[in-house]
Amino acid sequence: MKKEFKAESKKLLNMMINSIYTNKEIFLRELISNASDAIDKLHYLSLTNGDLKVNKDELEIKIELDKDNRTIKIIDNGVGMTMDELENNLGTIAKSGSELFKEENSDSKNLEIIGQFGVGFYSSFMVSNEVSVLSKSINSNDAYLWKSNGSDGYTIEPSEKEENGTVITLYLKEDTEDNNYSEFLENYTIERIVKKYSDYIKYPIKMEVSREEEDEETKEKKSVVELETLNSMTPIWKKKQKDVSDSEYNDFYTDKFYDYESPLKVIKSEVEGLTSYQALMFIPSHAPYNYYTKEYEKGLMLYSKGVMIMDKCADLLPDYFSFVKGIVDSEDIELNISRETMQQDKQIKLIAKSIETKIKKELENLLKEDRDNYIKFYDSFGEQLKYGIYSSYGMNKELLEDLLLFYSSYEDKHTTLSEYVDRMDGDTIYYASGETVDKIKMMPAVEDATQKGKEVLFLTNYIDEFVIKTIGNYKEKKFMNVSDSNFDLSSEEEKEELKKVNEESKDLFTSMKNVLVDSVKDIRFTNRLKNHPVCLITEGDVSLEMEKVLNAMPNGDSVKANKIMEINESHPISKKLKELHKNNDRETLEKYTKVLYNQARLIEGLSVENPREITDLICEIMSK
Ligand code: ADP
Repeated sequence: MKKEFKAESKKLLNMMINSIYTNKEIFLRELISNASDAIDKLHYLSLTNGDLKVNKDELEIKIELDKDNRTIKIIDNGVGMTMDELENNLGTIAKSGSELFKEENSDSKNLEIIGQFGVGFYSSFMVSNEVSVLSKSINSNDAYLWKSNGSDGYTIEPSEKEENGTVITLYLKEDTEDNNYSEFLENYTIERIVKKYSDYIKYPIKMEVSREEEDEETKEKKSVVELETLNSMTPIWKKKQKDVSDSEYNDFYTDKFYDYESPLKVIKSEVEGLTSYQALMFIPSHAPYNYYTKEYEKGLMLYSKGVMIMDKCADLLPDYFSFVKGIVDSEDIELNISRETMQQDKQIKLIAKSIETKIKKELENLLKEDRDNYIKFYDSFGEQLKYGIYSSYGMNKELLEDLLLFYSSYEDKHTTLSEYVDRMDGDTIYYASGETVDKIKMMPAVEDATQKGKEVLFLTNYIDEFVIKTIGNYKEKKFMNVSDSNFDLSSEEEKEELKKVNEESKDLFTSMKNVLVDSVKDIRFTNRLKNHPVCLITEGDVSLEMEKVLNAMPNGDSVKANKIMEINESHPISKKLKELHKNNDRETLEKYTKVLYNQARLIEGLSVENPREITDLICEIMSK
């Protein structure tokens, strides 16, 4: 009976075949990877289950080419598949993949994203009219044959097979003007592709190869056919870094971790001592599409004694470095380690600590030696580092604070805290927060600070200010928001003068405050504003920006910043206000107060509370 592919599989299949990989040869890499995984699984089972006897030396992958029938066979003696597994694994596409496929509709994006999934097996249809999979599971006495032409479904029927394992047969397409499929029937093409993509596979990939040889006695040339191993079988992470080219690392990374872009940085680590391990890690050059969601699973692949024992070992990576991908291979890890025993395992803890130190050092180097790429890294993953500081209540601050970057008023570019401190005098690091750098630059308080020669950090990420508060002090310097009521760069004389002026206008402010009871804590004159008539500053722990963030959180309690409205004493509006107060024109004073307050809100990036009332008021005043 013929069964239909699931709807999404079908769509994906068409895309795969027609467009995703212009690079058709990778079908072989995908099938070899699957074969290797299947042998890995068997190898692992045999090591953890005493009843299962497997001869390690016989584990292998074979490739058979048949020019007459135009077929390629990829044969493995791994775990094999039961009938159900054939159905589930090959009849539907990786579930997460299809779900994503439903959500995303822009084509170019799809192509990139699909590269992140294991749609491996389906790539065989790029070169084949028909594919058959003959498999016998280690858990079953029966063999089954799965067959499909890719477009309209598949069949599964009982079949015959002696040993456990899988035979995949590709029936190659006929050549066309643009595509020469026949080249895949040539030994040298296959040899080249295996070397290129699958050299590190640790089981032998064997193929019959015929060579011209001279007969020692007759001196006649004859061709001999030999089963040759095509791959070197040394895992790439066990090779010395100098023996591996950049493109080999890149290919390995994109293949193994389903990325379409080469990594930003390769981290190689080899440690001998209290614990011994080899690690090959990568920093991706962009965040995976699901990185900042719950679906993203951190972790490194864990190998022990040449066998993969875990696909994503989360305990090897702290959350703040969860973007790192890679492989750790250690002889010191028990093969039957489980997710439950993992956390208590001393070796795992030691390795995790050592890896953390290594990653940190590499990031510091990148920051020092390749600022552009560090900024690229930071754009993708900086938020994770900040979150690392924030969520640990500062416990990780020493580890991470020097990896932070902030946009700065100094030369209008990114800076580290350490660079800021090297340039500064005094004991305060100044910052301002807002939606964008441009909006922050327009804030009156920022203008005041920079004009007085202070460097100001521009915090544009919602989490930034919380991180700063968590850090508390950096190298004994404290942080201050330039919109904080304590921020005051004026001289003692100026302060005295201002105090006097404010004292004189006490009654004016009281009348104005009556209009804004729920909105501001205080109203006063300031001498820090140059041209702007008003600004809002805050008193206490919660800044305007923090108020915005906290109130945007689901089920967040409504939090209010203590706002103070400051009015430019040298602006003509001050004179006007005093006049209205003197003439006891309460009604007009009330209107002016409302308009001024909302102007202050606007300039700080807050919205107008009652836009209709305010626009009406403005028009009324304009028409006078
Ligand atoms: P992926 O390998 O990324 O999971 P594939 O589409 O290539 O995606 O394969 C789907 C599944 O089919 C695999 O996860 C595996 O369980 C099974 N499979 C594929 N090839 C083999 C094989 N040669 N032996 C055993 N199982 C296989």
